Amino acid sequence: MSRQLSCSALDCVHNMSGLCSANTIHVLGSGAHTSNQTMCNTFAEKGFKNSVAHFPNMNVTGEIRQLLNNDSIEMSPSIKCESVNCIYNEDRVCMAHNVQVSGPRAQSSQDTVCETFRMQ
Ligand code: SF4
Ligand code: SF4
Repeated sequence: MSRQLSCSALDCVHNMSGLCSANTIHVLGSGAHTSNQTMCNTFAEKGFKNSVAHFPNMNVTGEIRQLLNNDSIEMSPSIKCESVNCIYNEDRVCMAHNVQVSGPRAQSSQDTVCETFRMQ
C-alpha cells in the first residue's frame, strides 16, 4: 500500500529531514487507549554504531526515489503495530495512509508516540 509517514524524532538514525528511511518499523502499545501509550520501537539514536547496526533495515530504494522527488513523500516504511485498539490496525499491520510519529526530543523509543492512533 502507498503510505506517507512523517516523523519529528529527528535524533533517530532512520530520520531523514522528517521522513523515515526504515524498511519496516514496529509500533508498540498492545493495551493502548491513547496515542501516548504507543511508541515506535524501531527508534535508535543517531550515531555510527546504530548506523551500522540498522543498515539492514534501510530503505535504500526509497531514499533514492525521495532524492529524485523532493516535493512528495516517496519514502515510507511498512508498519507492524501492536496497538490493536487502533482503528487503522488490521492483524497487527497499520493500514493508515498518513501516519505521524512524534518525538521531537526523543532519546529512546519511550519518548516517541504514534499521533495517528485512534481508538476503535
Ligand atoms: S522514530 Fe520510528 S518512525 Fe521515526 S524515524 Fe525513527 S524509526 Fe522512523
Ligand atoms: S495509526 Fe494505529 S495502527 Fe497505525 S501505527 Fe499508529 S497506532 Fe499503529
